[in-house]
Amino acid sequence: MKYIIMDLEWNGASTRSGYFDEIIEIGAVALDDQMNITSEFQTLVSPKQTKKLRGRIKELTHITNEDLKNADGFITVFKKLKAWIGTGDNCMLSWGNSDISVLYENLKRYDMLDEIYIIKNYCDAQQLCQKAVDISLAKQVGLSAFAELVGVEIGEDQLHRALNDSRLTARCFAKLFTPELFGMFVKKADPVFYERMNFKCYNLQDLEDEQVVFSDFMTECPECGAFMKRLTRFTCKNKKHYAKYRCGICGRKYNISHTLKITYDGLDHRKTLNEIGGNDVQETDDAADTVSGCAHTDAQ
Ligand SMILES: [Zn+2]
Repeated sequence: MKYIIMDLEWNGASTRSGYFDEIIEIGAVALDDQMNITSEFQTLVSPKQTKKLRGRIKELTHITNEDLKNADGFITVFKKLKAWIGTGDNCMLSWGNSDISVLYENLKRYDMLDEIYIIKNYCDAQQLCQKAVDISLAKQVGLSAFAELVGVEIGEDQLHRALNDSRLTARCFAKLFTPELFGMFVKKADPVFYERMNFKCYNLQDLEDEQVVFSDFMTECPECGAFMKRLTRFTCKNKKHYAKYRCGICGRKYNISHTLKITYDGLDHRKTLNEIGGNDVQETDDAADTVSGCAHTDAQ
């Protein structure tokens, strides 16, 4: 399997057909099974949709409008990238999933989405690397901070340039790679993969939504395992639903927050339990009868 570590630089701007992150540089390195760099790819891409570079992008990358003037456009550059990648089995990797998502959007913009399937598999190098050193995947550690953390040489290379960032990602990946870890994070880059990638997850605010499963709210007492009785109506704050519960066996009371997230795979109901001391819980008469009547106290 050929590993292709890719990094993109892009310029985000409003265009006639909405906001667009337009690729202005593609960098990539290819690794063999022994984690040796076998070849590299780097090219600037002349922006056709967003025209002028944003100040922040110029500062970050040191790429100028002048630099991009003589560069090829995306369609030509992608053909070169495709030829460089070749037709065999491969796995694309990047630090975080924004690069693959931006590549997808750029191909879509040029009506070239079928070309995305030159990528056979995908692996988020950031997830693999963070997992390798036991950093929660909920955290997003920047590439250079991570490299420093694991003692990977950053050197004199200017960061936020596509090829340099690909090389640094490749060094982190090569250092931490194990077949087991790779197996955990590699995904077949098929249409379902892109559907999942493009799915916008959201938290359910309305407890009367038909996707709510009433029985999911039933919670066992952590002490004795009995289902608890809900004492109060739900209050909704910061997209979480809170209510107080009491165990009928041991009498312990808990404040439980419910987070109802709609993901590509459906409803994900998470709970956090906090035990409440004392007898300060006012029971609401109709609390347990219904999940409706959620008081929305957060600003939308
Ligand atoms: Zn109990």
